[in-house]
Amino acid sequence: MIGLFLLEKLKNGVTITQLDRAKRENMAKINTNYDKLSASYLFSEIAKRTKAFIEKNPGTDVLRLGIGNTTQPLPKSIIRGLNLGVNKLSNIKTYTGYGDEQGDTRLRKAIADFYKKLDVVIDPMEVFVSDGAKTDSANIQSIFGEKNIVAVCDPVYPVYVDSNVISGRTGAYTNGKYKGFVYMPCTEDNGFFPKLPKQKVDLIYICSPNNPTGAVATRKQLKNLVDYARDKKAIIIFDAAYSSYIKDKDLPRSIYEIKGAKKCAIEINSFSKSAGFTGVRLGWTIVPMDLVCENAEKVKINALWNRRQTTMFNGASNIAQEGGLCALSKEGQKECLAIVNYYMENAKIIKKGLAKIGLKVFGGENAPYIWLKTPKKMTSWEFFDKLLNETHVVGTPGSGFGPHGEGYFRLSAFGQRENVEKAVKSIQQNLKL
Ligand code: PLP
Repeated sequence: MIGLFLLEKLKNGVTITQLDRAKRENMAKINTNYDKLSASYLFSEIAKRTKAFIEKNPGTDVLRLGIGNTTQPLPKSIIRGLNLGVNKLSNIKTYTGYGDEQGDTRLRKAIADFYKKLDVVIDPMEVFVSDGAKTDSANIQSIFGEKNIVAVCDPVYPVYVDSNVISGRTGAYTNGKYKGFVYMPCTEDNGFFPKLPKQKVDLIYICSPNNPTGAVATRKQLKNLVDYARDKKAIIIFDAAYSSYIKDKDLPRSIYEIKGAKKCAIEINSFSKSAGFTGVRLGWTIVPMDLVCENAEKVKINALWNRRQTTMFNGASNIAQEGGLCALSKEGQKECLAIVNYYMENAKIIKKGLAKIGLKVFGGENAPYIWLKTPKKMTSWEFFDKLLNETHVVGTPGSGFGPHGEGYFRLSAFGQRENVEKAVKSIQQNLKL
């Protein structure tokens, strides 16, 4: 009996008695896949270290080029749309409650029209409006079987990996990798576009323009990918959240610009970075009717996603959708482009400024991220601390995006010009190389 009162230290540092543990044994169980997740979410660790620095150095002006968060106010046409959405709710004749879970028909049509400019035919029934690309890129895996083998670019936006870990598609996390995942290294040698795996994989996550490397897949690279997916009977999950940052006319903005892609790819996009909706929340996913999978004659992936969304999602905000409609109007597109250009001018300033002091920099030309190689073979976190201490600039360690991000560092072009210029100047003057 006495033994039951012995103190035990749990993994998370909590001390309990064995009696407590015995009582807990019959309680509801948690999803233990969460235990597999590597350390805390990247951005909370950055926030923790930045806070500690500020506490040690009160009054220091910290310059943040870390998170990919928009800073510029919404353009006039979108504000008009959002106001219209609010005003409609104030009148009994125009008030709406729950809408179509798949999205406002007018917005789905406007999104389909958006693809026409790329010579891509999308049926509004293939468009699913959502509250953002993060939600969709995390949830899309839920319609696929647990045993599917998942391939991811390395480094990449961490949500694809984490959502599959939580869903139990991987084993333990060791040496920076989850067992069971197929990592596709994106390195300087392959121009940050991966070699496709030899083994059979079922789901392939690709993000172009890539977060964090800023690399954009060429038409040829995407054609190879589509051919590969069709040959291996795999499905591509293509995240195009930064497509509006592609300036080079030869680079594809949608995977559907590649012939055959509607048979093997789902595309996710967002109003966050193209229209400043990071706080408003609006995105979309295209699930083609032609998408082929096991039992395709019986099950359509489009119908499965529809079932998932109608069960677990009640539709995007009607106010946000009214704003989204205006963002896709001719005037809205023009205004949004001006904001994208503003961030891309920031990217140019950062890239040029860092190259000038001899740092090796990538990306930043068709994407709002600059990917730099850490000097003197420093680890990503060593460089984070050095940059913060010497220049007071906060960036994002590349290792947080996957094992091949180690030795790299991401700077974001989202920010106000004055802050970006200050940060670049501080790096140029204070970084001891
Ligand atoms: N996809 C990528 C590649 C991203 O980098 C981000 C945000 O940084 C998102 C999706 C999230 O988009 P949203 O704000 O629409 O959820």
